[in-house]
Amino acid sequence: MAECTDLSLSISPSDPPLAAIALGSNLGEPLRQLRSAVQMLAQTAGIDVLAYSPWYYTVPVGPPQPNYWNGCLIARVQLSPWALLKTLQRIEVQFGRQRQEHWGARTLDLDLLLYGDRVITTAELTLPHPRLAERPFVLAPLAAIAPHWRHPVLGETIQTLRQQVGDVGIIAVLSDDAGETMCATVADRQPPERR
Ligand code: ATP
Ligand code: CA
Ligand code: CA
Repeated sequence: MAECTDLSLSISPSDPPLAAIALGSNLGEPLRQLRSAVQMLAQTAGIDVLAYSPWYYTVPVGPPQPNYWNGCLIARVQLSPWALLKTLQRIEVQFGRQRQEHWGARTLDLDLLLYGDRVITTAELTLPHPRLAERPFVLAPLAAIAPHWRHPVLGETIQTLRQQVGDVGIIAVLSDDAGETMCATVADRQPPERR
């Protein structure tokens, strides 16, 4: 499994399909939990993790709460979209996720962003993720590993969508491979300690 490999050029309707998953955490030990979650997904039958992004330190959306660490991964999956979502939710619970406030703090959030070019519109599962195109904290890490993946509803690439939203709310970037690279875009916030 490689961090930050651009797999987009090999992304085409394929069997087994590719899925993009967002990871986020702002309670407990976020970076440790996120890295463990990547490992747990990689060890799950039917999920072959191909690449994961650097970790982005971001300003929270929703009620007042600690800053987040966010990232994305791409996996080749042999599970249906619904089975994959159930797997993500089971792993969230294993990491102590409790659902209290809407958009409240959490030990681990795993969102299914894209599943090939599938479009699904149910309350239980919406694909692409309904807020993908408006979130710098999701588009920035996703663009690091899949810039050419085309949003199947909007018709734009992830890279274009990421350019449209900019860097709002992104404080810093931490790469597991290359050490720390700073991306200080929020002037009044200090970069995090490396953990
Ligand atoms: P947001 O969806 O805005 O990122 P959230 O991650 O805090 O908010 P949750 O409380 O984790 O939201 O999830 C709420 C519901 O969203 C879940 O019950 C789940 O069934 C549903 N859901 C619909 N589409 C998706 C998707 N693509 N990925 C993850 N959950 C989804
Ligand atoms: Ca989410
Ligand atoms: Ca979620």
